[in-house]
Amino acid sequence: MRDPAPELSAPLEELDRELAGLLRAELARERATLNLIASENFVPRALLEVQGSVLTNKYADGYPGAREYDGCEVVDEVERLAIARACALFGAEHANVQPYSGASANFAVLRALAAPGDTVLGWDFTHGGHPTHYDRDTLTGVLYRGVTYHVRRDDRLVDLDEVAALARAERPRVIFVGWCLYTRHLDYRAFREIADEVGAVLVADMAHVSGLVAAGMYPSPVGIADVCTFTTHKTVGGGRGGTILCRQELAGRIDAAVYPGSQGGPLPHVIGAHALAFGLARRPAFRERMARTLSGARVLAGVLADHATETRCDVVTGGTETHQVVLDTSPRGVGASTALEDLHAVGVNANALPLAFDPVPGPTGSGLRLGTAALATRGFADAEFAELGEILAGALGPARGARHAELAGRAEALRAGFPLYPGLG
Ligand SMILES: *Cc1c(COP(=O)(O)O)cnc(C)c1O
Repeated sequence: MRDPAPELSAPLEELDRELAGLLRAELARERATLNLIASENFVPRALLEVQGSVLTNKYADGYPGAREYDGCEVVDEVERLAIARACALFGAEHANVQPYSGASANFAVLRALAAPGDTVLGWDFTHGGHPTHYDRDTLTGVLYRGVTYHVRRDDRLVDLDEVAALARAERPRVIFVGWCLYTRHLDYRAFREIADEVGAVLVADMAHVSGLVAAGMYPSPVGIADVCTFTTHKTVGGGRGGTILCRQELAGRIDAAVYPGSQGGPLPHVIGAHALAFGLARRPAFRERMARTLSGARVLAGVLADHATETRCDVVTGGTETHQVVLDTSPRGVGASTALEDLHAVGVNANALPLAFDPVPGPTGSGLRLGTAALATRGFADAEFAELGEILAGALGPARGARHAELAGRAEALRAGFPLYPGLG
């Protein structure tokens, strides 16, 4: 019998060999590198299934029980599941799981809580914050008046005295607290006191730490900040997207600011992936993985600190309480992009980023940001992170060229013990 719609059932390999080849190439690349990019992770194979499912076919503008489209009875249940699991995971009263990304979540929160022209106080990007909290290159800086706070020069910790002084002088409508490069706990209550003193709304962006927060291994801003945002694809290890948490009294305003305020139809296949990820994050295996993530970062920081004389890279703040280890490569005098190349040479991926008070100008500066979440997901524990630390120290050390084959071989041996998606591809 004739297949009435052959393109509907043909596998990708038959339908588009060029694209299929690229997907194979990406899988091979992910398998062949050791990923220390602090904002990335590996999703469960089952999550690839959900994101590649028929949920992607559905239009569902609106919210469960109040959609502008017919046929939403199943995606209503999927979204209700994601919302309930997000609330249970973080102890929140309300969750919006529709934001397309962390940036979209932040823009929606501002749309809900501030009027164009209002002042927003955010953490400077080159000091560890995120551009969507204030920067002119983003919608936030176009619509609102961005003012920034910093870390202190002596200990590189967030300068709460400056936050308080700026809050009193600038009277912001919104204060953002949250980072993409930092290695220490935050005192959310101190930010709360400052916000209360000046009548500002406090928004915590826990993009990097949401998985650690879910596991009870980093201070939680939920219930302290008025609103919390996070990305679902960093330490949580879910599909790419954003989520907003708030008290019930703000739910209506937040939901209206996401849809129709700043987005179109939701992505039901991604919301399904969030339901899976939030469900998995409540299981003991997730806590165990977050414990390996944190402990691995401490081990990595320790090994790199021991080798600081040879590598001429300092461990910023001397260690870590998060999944990140930040190296200051400025004593090498050549910028972090050179250090990144040294790591590439042995099959390791990471980020070069500017540091606070960076002597090297430019977008990559002197900071080398390493994160343990992805490799902990792949199965690494303290022993592997210690060996990886030795490999990194060798790759950054003075004899790196001469040791290239040895170091690349050790990196490959590490990878071989932790196959990525066996059976896929
Ligand atoms: C990653 C990150 C974001 C942006 O998330 P996207 O999904 O890339 O838009 C926002 N805030 C912080 C603190 C982040 O680390």
